[in-house]
Amino acid sequence: MTISPLPPGSTIGILGGGQLGRMLALAAAELGLRCHIYCPDPDSPAFDVAYRSTCAAYDDEVALDEFVRNVDRVTYEFENVPHGTVAFLAARVPVLPGEKALRITQDRLHEKRFVSELGFETAHFLPVDRAADLANALDALGYPAILKTRRFGYDGKGQVTIRPGDDLAGAWTAIGAQDAILEAVVPFAMECSVVVARGGDGTIAAYDITENRHENHILKTSTVPAGVSLASAAEARRIGARIAAALDYVGVLAVELFVVRDAAGEHLLVNEIAPRVHNSGHWTQDGCVVSQFGQHMRAVAGWPLGSTKRHSDVEMTNLIGQEVEQWAGLAARAELAVHLYGKTAARPGRKMGHVNRISPRRDQPAEE
Ligand code: AMP
Repeated sequence: MTISPLPPGSTIGILGGGQLGRMLALAAAELGLRCHIYCPDPDSPAFDVAYRSTCAAYDDEVALDEFVRNVDRVTYEFENVPHGTVAFLAARVPVLPGEKALRITQDRLHEKRFVSELGFETAHFLPVDRAADLANALDALGYPAILKTRRFGYDGKGQVTIRPGDDLAGAWTAIGAQDAILEAVVPFAMECSVVVARGGDGTIAAYDITENRHENHILKTSTVPAGVSLASAAEARRIGARIAAALDYVGVLAVELFVVRDAAGEHLLVNEIAPRVHNSGHWTQDGCVVSQFGQHMRAVAGWPLGSTKRHSDVEMTNLIGQEVEQWAGLAARAELAVHLYGKTAARPGRKMGHVNRISPRRDQPAEE
């Protein structure tokens, strides 16, 4: 796909008004681009920083029509954008990263098959369409295993671990009795991710792989450099680049990976693809020449991609729920860059901001 470059002053529409939309709009502003945020939630953090905003439902065609008349291009900050919304908008302006990326990544079964067909390893998995399929799938994959909804899962929601003796009907009900997949549990040594950008001309730029630590199923820290071999770091970039190319992708995506260590050494399994900027890429705001947000806006605007070169070591820590109340102390620390999302209610589990702890780079830069 060749996409024409949008000049500064152009307007990019963003579907979704959370913190990712907010940071995309801020990065766009640095490039002289305007953003129009479309989100049904009146409390959207991105509204505070946008050139224009529309608060309406994703299936409100009157509002969508008005929105699309005022934008030169559309992107999104979350993967569960309804298909009808994208189809409506894409008939009028380019929507990037595009319909294919959404179709595949909105469904765990499609995504796992897509990744396997590219020749990359995933957890062993089987589709489970009915409660009656579950026992057979467990016989095939063994215990423990994780039952996950095919659609709309995030931060560990819509999934349940099944151990020997567990009530299978209860597990099926717990995920809402809907189309699912069963995955074998991967005995990973570490969770990592790689953020990759692909331009409209097919150019790829990958960031360094990050090491991710979760608490209560929510990302807590992302650290670069990750404690993996140089071979794994290079393999992560290769996986990200291959996936982006196979999706005809334009923009930034993240691939979540499991690092497994066994007698054969260290190798990577693909857990999940996020067709958007990603929480594990927030470190790039303070660790790289061009952040994942600036990079996404460049790609969507049809500009050349910027450098993904990392100049510092970084540990990104999410501020979750009440932790945001520590903002004054954090802001006083010279080694921290504080990013707050402007959300009013600090509900438990809600991502309220993050801090990037910067230190001089200790390792040698990887070959670009
Ligand atoms: P997901 O929503 O699929 O990214 O899963 C959320 C988290 O659950 C992951 O970050 C892992 O910590 C864990 N998890 C998911 N799938 C597996 C698996 N097959 N084996 C081991 N841990 C998993």
